[in-house]
Amino acid sequence: MQENFSNSTQNFDVVVAGCGVAGLSAAVAAAEAGARVAVLERSTYDERGGNTRYTTAALRMESEEAVSGDFVQRFLDNCGYHVQPDFAASTVLDYANWPAMVRALAFTDPELIVFFADNVPPAISWLKAHGVKFGGIGFYGLTPRASPRIAITGGGLHLIEVMTAHAEKIGVQFFYETAAQSLVQSTQGIVCGLRAGSKAGTRHFACRSVILACGGFQGNPEMVVRYIGPKGRYLRPVARGGYYDKGEGIDMALRAGAAPAGDFAEYHAEPIDPRSSATEPIVMAYPYGVLVNQQGQRFTDEAPGPIDASYEDTTRLIADQTKGIAFCILDNKINDIENSRRIVRSDQPPVTAPDVASLGRTLGFVGDAAQRAIDAYNRACPGGVFNPHTLDGLATTGLSPRKSNYAVPLDTPPYHAYPIISSNTFTFGGLKVNVDAQVVNQDGELMQGLYAAGETVGIYYGKYPGATSVLRGAVFGKRAGEHAAQQAAAVRLSRR
Ligand SMILES: Cc1cc2nc3c(=O)[nH]c(=O)nc-3n(C[C@H](O)[C@H](O)[C@H](O)COP(=O)(O)OP(=O)(O)OC[C@H]3O[C@@H](n4cnc5c(N)ncnc54)[C@H](O)[C@@H]3O)c2cc1C
Repeated sequence: MQENFSNSTQNFDVVVAGCGVAGLSAAVAAAEAGARVAVLERSTYDERGGNTRYTTAALRMESEEAVSGDFVQRFLDNCGYHVQPDFAASTVLDYANWPAMVRALAFTDPELIVFFADNVPPAISWLKAHGVKFGGIGFYGLTPRASPRIAITGGGLHLIEVMTAHAEKIGVQFFYETAAQSLVQSTQGIVCGLRAGSKAGTRHFACRSVILACGGFQGNPEMVVRYIGPKGRYLRPVARGGYYDKGEGIDMALRAGAAPAGDFAEYHAEPIDPRSSATEPIVMAYPYGVLVNQQGQRFTDEAPGPIDASYEDTTRLIADQTKGIAFCILDNKINDIENSRRIVRSDQPPVTAPDVASLGRTLGFVGDAAQRAIDAYNRACPGGVFNPHTLDGLATTGLSPRKSNYAVPLDTPPYHAYPIISSNTFTFGGLKVNVDAQVVNQDGELMQGLYAAGETVGIYYGKYPGATSVLRGAVFGKRAGEHAAQQAAAVRLSRR
């Protein structure tokens, strides 16, 4: 629909929806390239920054100059499902020669993965040049990580504060409590504005390019259940910021013809204590005990491998249990483990009782059945030297499901239990983009004037390559801002 913007609020070169890492990177990059930039943000100034505000911002990197050795491979391993072989083969051609069907295909294409990996170090040095600090990171696990990490010192909040201040200084205009609702397109289909809602009513923002950086849909229960299924009822964002991400960016672009990409049925899962309102109240203690469901039955191997490589699979299984909940039962030997405090970030203490039946009565699982499950588990423990600080190989024998490490009897009262649910840290389903963060439509063509970055883009399938989502926001946000600003400058030049 073509609209007359003579009465609209303001005109900009670039309008960015959202001010997390993706939106701020886009806005700063565009403004530095000479564009007049507006950022629309649903929240108040004090709450701005969505998920980014709350992240510890672990980054899958060996150093500030190099991504982890497994970075590209982990993406290739999780780039889609059963991709038709001739489609995959056609990606050896230059992108311009790919069949339209492949350009629109819902898989993470190699071009995008390689661009992402190659552009992480430059994005880090760009953020550093703006004052964002990087350093090491503590770990919630007791064993070494499966792959290396660095982190933003001070986490995502530090990035939000530094980049907002810089954006304001270079003239980016922020509109808080203003939620992007729908795209405006010219009669030729070129995206030329955004409609947004605020307490004052609907506002129109006319522009040459829109950059959608307004998160995933973890804050929208209707979309979560629509795409992830009925278990979506039991999921909740891992921190306050995720509640702002209601999926409008994805929805408005899909309605305008964008190609979907990313795994709409999946999400990044973390095991959290439902009794806690703290940010990311993870409970990673279960490898040293057992997990039972409401029926008091074990349902998974609690210690299949390194915790950072296995917790997502375990947590998704918790989401599949009755009411999406499980219970981690430990005995008092947990208190003998050095550093055992760091495996739980919940601010709620465990429920403690002299016997498992009492734990069940307090927390709402079948205690007698849980005790029987623990008896069977205790009988299957092999004996041997327990070592919580390595994968000790103490595995149950003849038990289903087996436990592959740390199988020592739970026989020392008092017993302790934490309830655990799955958080929905962020959703995987989003929009298909090219390496310039331009949105691709269902026919494999670029949607002129439309960009997407961060969680609004779909690049994850199956298992999340951990500690890559902040990097995704920085790399593709920055690229979107640069490209959109170039396009605006080119239009200005052509009109002189
Ligand atoms: C507790 C926690 C820990 C995490 N740990 C890590 C980690 O260690 N490493 C890692 O890589 N990733 C981690 N993640 C994930 C990562 O932080 C996010 O995926 C990433 O920061 C998302 O950035 P974004 O800019 O795409 O979205 P967000 O940061 O969520 O920003 C989106 C912004 O858009 C706004 N918005 C939403 N809808 C609209 C609308 N319609 N109009 C205008 N504005 C809108 C929101 O209010 C928000 O400010 C973690 C996340 C959380 C919550």
